[in-house]
Amino acid sequence: MINLKFSDKKSYDVIVVGGGIIGCSVAYYLAKEKIKVLVLEKDTVGSHASSGAAGMLGIHSEHFINPSFRKACLQSRTLYASLSPVFKEQYGIDIEYEQSGIMMLACSEKEKKDFVRRYALDHEVQWHEPVQVKTMMPALKGDIKGGVFCPLDGQVSVGRVCASFYQGALAHGAEIKEHAEVTGFIRHKNRVTGVQAKNAQYQCAHIVLAAGPWTGLLSEKLGLHIPIQPVRGQILIFQMQKRFVTFPVFLGESGFYMVPKPDGYLYAGTTMEHVGFREKSTQKAIQKISKGVMTWFPGIGDLPFKGAWAGLRPGTPDGLPVIGPAKGIKGLWLAAGHFRRGILLAPYTGQQIARHLFGGKPHSDQ
Ligand SMILES: Cc1cc2nc3c(=O)[nH]c(=O)nc-3n(C[C@H](O)[C@H](O)[C@H](O)COP(=O)(O)OP(=O)(O)OC[C@H]3O[C@@H](n4cnc5c(N)ncnc54)[C@H](O)[C@@H]3O)c2cc1C
Repeated sequence: MINLKFSDKKSYDVIVVGGGIIGCSVAYYLAKEKIKVLVLEKDTVGSHASSGAAGMLGIHSEHFINPSFRKACLQSRTLYASLSPVFKEQYGIDIEYEQSGIMMLACSEKEKKDFVRRYALDHEVQWHEPVQVKTMMPALKGDIKGGVFCPLDGQVSVGRVCASFYQGALAHGAEIKEHAEVTGFIRHKNRVTGVQAKNAQYQCAHIVLAAGPWTGLLSEKLGLHIPIQPVRGQILIFQMQKRFVTFPVFLGESGFYMVPKPDGYLYAGTTMEHVGFREKSTQKAIQKISKGVMTWFPGIGDLPFKGAWAGLRPGTPDGLPVIGPAKGIKGLWLAAGHFRRGILLAPYTGQQIARHLFGGKPHSDQ
């Protein structure tokens, strides 16, 4: 490791900047490999997009950009199935992993045609006619054209996943500091050698930027241009008496969805807003989402409304995350830009970074 003259002599193999679900997963997989890790989080762990996202593990519910991305999503979904019992047993946390399936409704003839064409060769999904769809979802009203159901997709509870990675990282020896904003980087020639945080400097051999939508701003401090932009998404939360729907459902291409959570809440989303770093929910979105979901599920109007939540997705121009070494600066790694798939891809990302950073294969798949 590079030797530097710091007043604070603490040094680490890896410093992870950002304690969202991605940073916590990276820390977990690295610490499991006995790597000396420090996570620096400007606020509290899992307090931004990773606190209230819908938690869907949806492989089919959104367009696929390329086959290797699809493979990564499949791998990560599988990892969740094996992580769930490990987290329960080792840290006493139930991440509420459910392989409930996810339904995508065809709300028009055009959507029906598109879905049939798009999923023709996909063996994981099943086409359901309107009668079957309505039997599966009695709360659904109106002239639906059918639905694509993927029984292998599912969901988790996001806060619990974050807490598990966090606890797991600590248990394996990682250090995590909250309210520790990284304000700059220390470099020696063309290599990063440490970070400047609020009240301290830390030295390290590698830095992983996992700062979600803030990654672009941070990378500018290093003279890099990583085009990650915040895209606000909002969710409404209703209280269900019994499960209003029993699995997550997308309302065609409208952008609206509903996710029944095991704790009795029903999440209804969402919006895609380019409004900078403004993270608050708005009245306009509350009305838009309510109207959108009530078009097909009018009974939602009878459920008690419990509140609204907004988060910033880390968006990239091509919709793909940036996972791996940064070009041009030695020791710098990126794990960011997961956009609408950060929850799904968290285990995969942590595992990949651990695998590539030290050239080793993690000892186990959990
Ligand atoms: C409405 C909504 C619904 C969603 N639903 C799903 C879903 O169903 N399935 C799915 O897979 N994904 C979903 N997502 C996307 C998912 O939430 C994100 O992709 C994921 O949370 C990104 O995680 P992250 O750790 O990269 O970012 P974040 O959670 O934003 O974490 C980044 C962290 O870095 C910290 N940070 C920033 N700058 C600094 C600094 N200078 N120093 C120290 N720390 C810093 C921040 O404080 C933050 O805690 C949804 C998102 C939204 C908004």
